[in-house]
Amino acid sequence: MTGSIDGMHTGTPGARGFVYGFSDDPGAADVLALCGGKGSGLMRMRGLGLPVPEGFVITTETCVSYIQTREMPEGLMDEVGENLRRVEEATGCGFGDPGNPLLVSVRSGAAVSMPGMMDTVLNLGLNSETARGLAERTGDERFARDCHRRFIQAFGEIVLKVPGHLFEEAIEAMKGERGVEADTELTSGDLEELRVGFEEIVVREAGTVVPEDPRGQLELAIGAVFDSWLGERAVAYRREYGIPDDLGTAVTVQRMVFGNMGDTSATGVAFTRNPATGEQGLFGEFLLNAQGEDVVAGIRTPRPLPEMEEVLPGAYRQFLETAERLEREYGDMQDMEFTIERDRLYMLQTRSGKRTGAAALKIARDMAADGLISQAEAVLRVEAGSLDGLLHPRIDPEAHLEVLARGLPASPGAATGSIVLTAGEAKERAEAGEAVLLLRRETNPDDVDGMISARGVLTALGGMTSHAAVVARGMGKPAVTGCNALKIDTSRGVVHLGGETFEVGDVLTVDGASGAVIRGDVPLVAPEPSEDFETVLRWADETRALGVRANADTPEDARRARELGAGGIGLCRTEHMFMEGERLRIMREMILSEGDEALAEALTKLEPMQVEDFEGILRAMDGLPVTVRLLDPPLHEFLPDSKDLAKVIAGREGRGEDAGEQRRQLRVAESLEERNPMLGLRGVRLGLLRPEVYLMQARAIARAARTVREEGRDPRVEIMIPLVAFASELRKMRTMIEAELAGEEIPVGTMIELPRACAVADKIAAEADFFSFGTNDLTQMVCGVSRDDAEEKFLAGYLNEGTLSFNPFQTIDRDGVGEFVKMAVDKGREANRGLKLGVCGEHGGDPKSVAFFHEAGLDYVSCSPFRVPGARLAAAHAALRQST
Ligand code: ADP
Ligand code: MG
Ligand code: MG
Repeated sequence: MTGSIDGMHTGTPGARGFVYGFSDDPGAADVLALCGGKGSGLMRMRGLGLPVPEGFVITTETCVSYIQTREMPEGLMDEVGENLRRVEEATGCGFGDPGNPLLVSVRSGAAVSMPGMMDTVLNLGLNSETARGLAERTGDERFARDCHRRFIQAFGEIVLKVPGHLFEEAIEAMKGERGVEADTELTSGDLEELRVGFEEIVVREAGTVVPEDPRGQLELAIGAVFDSWLGERAVAYRREYGIPDDLGTAVTVQRMVFGNMGDTSATGVAFTRNPATGEQGLFGEFLLNAQGEDVVAGIRTPRPLPEMEEVLPGAYRQFLETAERLEREYGDMQDMEFTIERDRLYMLQTRSGKRTGAAALKIARDMAADGLISQAEAVLRVEAGSLDGLLHPRIDPEAHLEVLARGLPASPGAATGSIVLTAGEAKERAEAGEAVLLLRRETNPDDVDGMISARGVLTALGGMTSHAAVVARGMGKPAVTGCNALKIDTSRGVVHLGGETFEVGDVLTVDGASGAVIRGDVPLVAPEPSEDFETVLRWADETRALGVRANADTPEDARRARELGAGGIGLCRTEHMFMEGERLRIMREMILSEGDEALAEALTKLEPMQVEDFEGILRAMDGLPVTVRLLDPPLHEFLPDSKDLAKVIAGREGRGEDAGEQRRQLRVAESLEERNPMLGLRGVRLGLLRPEVYLMQARAIARAARTVREEGRDPRVEIMIPLVAFASELRKMRTMIEAELAGEEIPVGTMIELPRACAVADKIAAEADFFSFGTNDLTQMVCGVSRDDAEEKFLAGYLNEGTLSFNPFQTIDRDGVGEFVKMAVDKGREANRGLKLGVCGEHGGDPKSVAFFHEAGLDYVSCSPFRVPGARLAAAHAALRQST
């Protein structure tokens, strides 16, 4: 070991310093973390005796040190030199030796795969002398010149930061002059001319030359690969996938093998199975007489891999065997890169391949069926988040798209429809059979009807947990939110989008999986129900301890939730039931009623409607628990806005009409107005102070349960009281409710969504049959943050600047809110051993949060129906990870 940075290596058994040779024994070191995915893959392949060109890996820790100090750590280049000598010995070539030149590639590769995000330099070690030597040695001048011009090009672009298009344009110009199509048709003389031209470009653009000294080249290239960790592309990728910035990249230095030595040579990439569908069998492409990047760069069109069998049969067979072997060794689908030099196969990379959700399911199931992996491993192979997109129509991957703007991918799936700007219009046109997209600045509960009618939703404002996003996900409706390029002019019936104007009725498409807003009609593909999905999820169900229920407010949602594997309803909100048409009118009548008679009359109208609502849901959830939450929001949400009312009154008086009734309504509306309605007269407070609605709901629930049971079914309804802070609230409310149940035995529990409720959970538990954590409100209350304001005003900024690494409304804040949950669980269970515990906030569908709820020992989570499969899988993952 030649150097150590701040004790970084000390204590790591087997650590040798900055560098690991491919064949070195790493001891107990974490090879993946230190050598990156690419480096560790090469070492493993070598260990298996597969044909891998010699080389060595500079560790990620070295990169971290370089990034911190902006200097090559002392001793690094000595250690590189030693390892280079080992490669020279093994190959008989010399780095910089014109007699038999060794060329190397200098390759990036982090521990977490970030395909194509960082840089690689090939053919390093070439200069005028070694290029001549290479030509003589191989007897192929054209080949040597091709390598040389490639080297100048790559070194210029990656190390000296010359814009790459300048080189490409020079190649195009040369091909034009010569009247040839492909770069392979350029002659040896052409390539020499190109190289000279490239060197001129470098001098002009970078004000310097590519060094002739191979060691100087190597040091600069290593520094450039380290730097590429901080490149724009790489940083953006890490943000997107939540990869920490402080991992650093390893650098692999490896003897070059040449796929550009004529028609017995080739280069290619392949997956062991189809990464889009999971179908078995090699899937890939190759190019004859080409080097590395040519395949992906699109310079020539690569050929499908099976055609290689004809042109290079020996190497093809060997590659097939190698691919199978690697898949068995890794127990996972592999993504491989290879080169064939004069009929000899070399493996240059292998890693577990990225895949779609559908492919992940099929591969996991097939591999378990073939005994390659266990059922538990198969379950772990499928990411919970990857299931979301499977249940919705998707944009045909082959389709050509004109993306007009982008917003947040708030609710997956794609939808096409004509633009409407109001909920009313959405309803009207949808009822007339038209497919519509609802475009709003932002949405509120008044828009829910319109959202139901629309195929998809697009908003200008709002985040991933805005009203529009939450409601759309709940409905399984595609939505793009926070599309800042969208400007809506409702009065003129036009919208501005990406510098263009569209009118109501014009057709757009939104892709809720990517956040894209697309012009016109786009071909969609339907979600294919798959046996793989059913099978893997069944395995997950056998594994998990946590129950998964759904948040559902209608029989239709309940049915869908059940199909998706929900074990009941964890949250049935009743407020939506009063929001639409006729019911809203009666609700208003009731709220505005003065005198018991009018009140009783309104309630008599509402009660049978509620009974019917509950019957439908209980039938759909026959035999499974259904938790009905009594009315939660403040009453003024059901009334017209007081400002609107005031305007109507002013208008009437202006026309000399009598505005008495409106004035009375205005008085009531104003009396119900609150400075901070979130913390005002709502939930159980309303239930205690204006008990009419709660008692009516309790009666309706009991009647519905009785009716459904008399039909021979097994209704299992539970009544849930929201916003309890004091045990006395629950005690009183429960007594009042139980008096209305007409002998029906119905469990009564409470939401736990206030910090005080967590602190006195033992006392509340004495009055409750169950707790359901309302983690949305609990997060707001514990953090002192209003969600709607927060997402717009500062959460996005916090996330961008890294003050917060996650959105606490998406993923539960373990350290803060999580502690409150744990406190309530402990106190609650201690006071009431039979207490059932669940979660009904949006967090119930978030895989990381599900893991927390599992660890906290809850009985179930509840989430929107479309997130149920993901939650089932996440719950299984949590159980499996805990047991290992
Ligand atoms: P990326 O991470 O972008 O895939 P790589 O380091 O894998 O970058 O390099 C890209 C391509 O360069 C490889 O797929 C391979 O074809 C080629 N390449 C890299 N190293 C060598 C080598 N030692 N010999 C021949 N080709 C190489
Ligand atoms: Mg690669
Ligand atoms: Mg709440």
